[in-house]
Amino acid sequence: MKADPTDQRRLVELADLDRRLSGLEHRRRVLPEQDDLDRLEAERRAVSESAARARIHLEDLDRALAKLRSDLRAVRTRREKDAALLAGGGVSERQATELEYELRSLARRQEALEAELAELDERREAVEADVQHSGAAASDLDVRLADARSARDTALADLEDAVSASTAERARAAEQVPADLLALYARNVARAGVGAAVLGGARCSGCAMDLDRETVAAFRDAADDEVLTCPECGVIVVRAEAS
Ligand SMILES: [Zn+2]
Repeated sequence: MKADPTDQRRLVELADLDRRLSGLEHRRRVLPEQDDLDRLEAERRAVSESAARARIHLEDLDRALAKLRSDLRAVRTRREKDAALLAGGGVSERQATELEYELRSLARRQEALEAELAELDERREAVEADVQHSGAAASDLDVRLADARSARDTALADLEDAVSASTAERARAAEQVPADLLALYARNVARAGVGAAVLGGARCSGCAMDLDRETVAAFRDAADDEVLTCPECGVIVVRAEAS
């Protein structure tokens, strides 16, 4: 194919713009601001889950504590009743022995229940502290999430602006390239991912290969308007103006 050397050089400009656009596209996919946001969102979910677990634990403990307190009340009432009965003196010796036996047993039971109550109370305090801690962590994360979201949005908007500007610039550059040359460029992009490369000395910038001496000589002898193709990577090579 033949093409004006100026048009050939426009392909290099086009390739630069395409590289810039795919760089921007890549940056959008690996946006660090998005990573930060994703990480914080995962942290926030974990905090919510652990807070929910702590709240359920607290409810279980409250139920257990209510049951313990009610058991304790029953034991105390029974002790008072037995003690009053014993003090009243209107019981037989056998009944008195039984009451004393029961009172000792009730005292042990009360002691055990009180110890259990103290332990559960302590656990409840610890779980309640967990709930409060989760709440504080959630509030802190919410602030950081809002910042991260706005940083991500800003970064995306900046990227969109850069993409729009480069796309417009590319459209203007493409407009000046003859249709058949542009079609060849597009086929190269579809096949090799690169439309055109610069030939600097013996090196093709598309594949970074040094071409053999014969090819270099053939390229040197080729007419300026001859469209050359790299034998290594197959893309259009445009001779640098100096060579
Ligand atoms: Zn090449």
